[in-house]
Amino acid sequence: MRTKLLSFIPFFLLFFLSCKRDYPFIKEWKSTKVIVVVIDGPRYQETFGEPNHTYIPYQSALCKEGTLCTSFYNEGTTNTVNGHTAICTGNYESLNNAGLDIPTFPSFFQYYIEQKKAPASKAWIIASKDKLEVLANCSDKTYMNKFQPSTDCGINGLATGYREDSITQKNVLNTLQQMHPDLMLVNYREPDFSGHANNWNNYIKGIQQTDKYVAAIWDYIQSDPYYKDQTMLFITNDHGRHNDGWKDGFVSHGDDCSGCRHIALLALGTDIKKNYTCNLNYSQIDITTTIAAIFNLNMPYANGKIIDDIIQY
Ligand SMILES: [Zn+2]
Ligand SMILES: [Zn+2]
Repeated sequence: MRTKLLSFIPFFLLFFLSCKRDYPFIKEWKSTKVIVVVIDGPRYQETFGEPNHTYIPYQSALCKEGTLCTSFYNEGTTNTVNGHTAICTGNYESLNNAGLDIPTFPSFFQYYIEQKKAPASKAWIIASKDKLEVLANCSDKTYMNKFQPSTDCGINGLATGYREDSITQKNVLNTLQQMHPDLMLVNYREPDFSGHANNWNNYIKGIQQTDKYVAAIWDYIQSDPYYKDQTMLFITNDHGRHNDGWKDGFVSHGDDCSGCRHIALLALGTDIKKNYTCNLNYSQIDITTTIAAIFNLNMPYANGKIIDDIIQY
């Protein structure tokens, strides 16, 4: 008996060594809900890269409640559909950016609905841009047209045009209140929309307005016992825009200049370090893997890593 017991010791040692904090599923997550908010296309230099955070006072204040990642990037195609696809599927792709292609691989939405046996009403994509409805599906044979989340995108779904962010915001708050989803992705079309219109003042206004919107979502989370202390909120971007002096500057995006690649990630919630700044390099596909870890989802095609440095262990 004694020898038998001794023979177990190396096994236990190995077990403990392999369960150090970098092992993704050892943490007991307090978060049972995740909301990802994508503010479309601000440059980092106008958000957290601006030393006084002049245009984003609400998010600046929220830094005390969570972790700001200062070296966060879109490492793939720097446009809207592909930035959002990277976040949702963990894959950098080069899909058509007008909504003509669906992602190749399943998203955390499809895996969540499948593996948690959740109804579609518990997972939502709410977007000002109609084309983002493509995020609800994928061309993988096993998952195509299956396990799809609820969508509320653009004026009236795919190919109906963009809508005002104020409508999106109203729908987000109504849906949180009435449906109590456990997984949600939100897209605001600003400041990208005004950037493309070459309207600097409205571009800045778009940054300021969406700053208020995300703070209102955080406030809602605090006010609803279904979400309070159980929700992870990721506030990020799909891409940046060209640096000043490069091509048409803030007006456009889509290449691999540092302005297009460098984006922000502000993470909030009980499982996130408070008042902390993470300077390590992470990218959009790491959001996917972190969400998979929180929900203990098996996402075999996701290529990211857990954003370990922001997690409160
Ligand atoms: Zn975009
Ligand atoms: Zn660029």
